[in-house]
Amino acid sequence: MPSTTDPKSSPKKKDVPIRPDQGANDGAPKGRASKSNVGSQDVDGDVVDKEADPIRDGRETVWILGDQLNRHHGALKDRKPGDCRVLLVQSDAKISSKRWHRQRLHLVLSAMEHFAAELRVDGFEVDLRRAPTLRAGLAAHVDEFEVEQVVAMEPMSWSGRAMLTSAGVSLIANDQFTCDYEAFAGWAEGRKSLKLEDFYRWQRTRLDILMDNNDGDIQPAGGRWNFDHDNREPPPKDGRSWPAITEFELDDIDRAVLARMEAFAADAANSAELWGDGPRGRWPVTRSQALTRLDEFVAAGLAPFGAHEDAMLADEWKLAHSVLASSMNLGLLHPLEVVEAVEAAFRGGDAPINSVEGFIRQVIGWREYVWGLYWLWMPDYRHENQLDATRPVPPAFTGEATTEMACVSGVIDHVRENGFAHHIERLMVLGNLALTTGVNPWAMTEWMWASFVDGAEWVMLPNVIGMALHADGGAMATKPYASGGAYINKMSNYCNGCRFDPKKRTGDNACPFTTLYWDFLARNEDAFSGNHRMARQLAGMRRLKDLPEVRERAQTVLAALDAGEL
Ligand SMILES: Cc1cc2nc3c(=O)[nH]c(=O)nc-3n(C[C@H](O)[C@H](O)[C@H](O)COP(=O)(O)OP(=O)(O)OC[C@H]3O[C@@H](n4cnc5c(N)ncnc54)[C@H](O)[C@@H]3O)c2cc1C
Ligand code: SF4
Repeated sequence: MPSTTDPKSSPKKKDVPIRPDQGANDGAPKGRASKSNVGSQDVDGDVVDKEADPIRDGRETVWILGDQLNRHHGALKDRKPGDCRVLLVQSDAKISSKRWHRQRLHLVLSAMEHFAAELRVDGFEVDLRRAPTLRAGLAAHVDEFEVEQVVAMEPMSWSGRAMLTSAGVSLIANDQFTCDYEAFAGWAEGRKSLKLEDFYRWQRTRLDILMDNNDGDIQPAGGRWNFDHDNREPPPKDGRSWPAITEFELDDIDRAVLARMEAFAADAANSAELWGDGPRGRWPVTRSQALTRLDEFVAAGLAPFGAHEDAMLADEWKLAHSVLASSMNLGLLHPLEVVEAVEAAFRGGDAPINSVEGFIRQVIGWREYVWGLYWLWMPDYRHENQLDATRPVPPAFTGEATTEMACVSGVIDHVRENGFAHHIERLMVLGNLALTTGVNPWAMTEWMWASFVDGAEWVMLPNVIGMALHADGGAMATKPYASGGAYINKMSNYCNGCRFDPKKRTGDNACPFTTLYWDFLARNEDAFSGNHRMARQLAGMRRLKDLPEVRERAQTVLAALDAGEL
């Protein structure tokens, strides 16, 4: 078992500088490699002369990937201007690889450019280059500057890590999470099931988050680990307003990035395609903007966050959600500083325990859990499709067709306008429809990855393949998140204005979710028959007297959905 599995060697709160003014940070990064054991190979795999000091000679490069934009973590953590050159590569192949939402692509490119500009102001020599591929960008940089040694923090993706390793880049451990994936593997070792609740309690205890210590008696704050039952309220009917967020004015860098993106996509020589509304400053592109967003959430969003966490409203795209995921996923914020700010609000009496616990559960629980599962189960996990789902992503999702399903139409409006839908809209509307219609898991992953501002493979795969589509046979979620229209009717105001009736399963105005839910159970009866958590649902399905009519209606619904005519 690796030494990092020892909770005592896990990251502690004090290891993470909170809002440091300068990047100065002593101590080499912990983990699989450090500066002292890198540099034995150059990017072509040749052995480098150990007598040379590439740092002093200015021939060492620190490569910063687009989701590692933090001066105080990773490969820049203990670097000063003059130590090394900094490389950032924007890959044309990556831009052409998906049909990106405009705000998603803009966020990543603009955040990279802002980070490069900030480093230059700090005195670093920065090579921000565009290249046909990441590898080509690296090679061109190495040639141009006669680089002897390239160091990077471990990439967030399996393929990225393989590519950098094969290119001879020296990797230091990824410290953008509170739980290193080797520590997670140690926690998982020997367990019969990998329950989020167990992992979350382990995290709370070892990180000392939201724990009370009364003379050595250490207990969860508020006397319970879990306040979920307080956090499932339907949407309030009082017409209240929800916390506002700053929209950051687009600057010259933002505008230049947008113009370049549009020109690139318009050039027929590139296979790039964009969709969705353009950026209007909703997504932080710098650390300072991300800190503003965090402050705003703690001040106004945190208190109402918990109770209505699962509620959906047609004309409210975020309710009290933090909209911090993109900032954490790009590295602009560290998850530990986020939960510490939230805990401080609780200790100061500014937010109730159900909201604080619910939020902290999302960040040091769910977020780190899916990060650990990704590394535990890759690369095979990417290919999971245990329900043999083959349908393409419906045209109603991609914007190629409109739909009369008010919930789907409303959620897609949110995605088009903001590159964002909150968790329950992702899971119980988009995911639920994809699950019950049988959309191919990888196709769904790719679409969501390109459509959400916070998309990334490590977080998409467990959430889409495991949680939403049950394509891993229940390895992550013991029971599929399938539901009929009743759940959406209870937790949203979408059904009020819909031409379909959530209570009906047959007939022209039957809710497609309700029809498809029963059809999904019937279609997968064999697959779920051994799952005791599905026994009640299967028994209900078997009791339906009109099951043949339901299944016939399901065929009509599926055909209409495929044709973009529902
Ligand atoms: C089908 C599906 C796809 C998803 N795709 C993504 C994705 O591409 N990127 C992404 O960051 N999250 C993804 N999530 C998780 C979650 O929906 C988003 O993190 C959240 O909606 C982002 O909004 P927020 O920042 O306002 O989060 P909040 O509701 O304010 O929650 C706080 C934070 O908790 C973390 N979090 C909560 N739930 C999860 C989870 N299940 N997995 C990982 N982190 C979680 C996020 O960092 C989030 O910022 C997905 C969930 C589902 C069901
Ligand atoms: S009736 Fe069905 S399709 Fe219409 S909004 Fe409600 S759940 Fe969605």
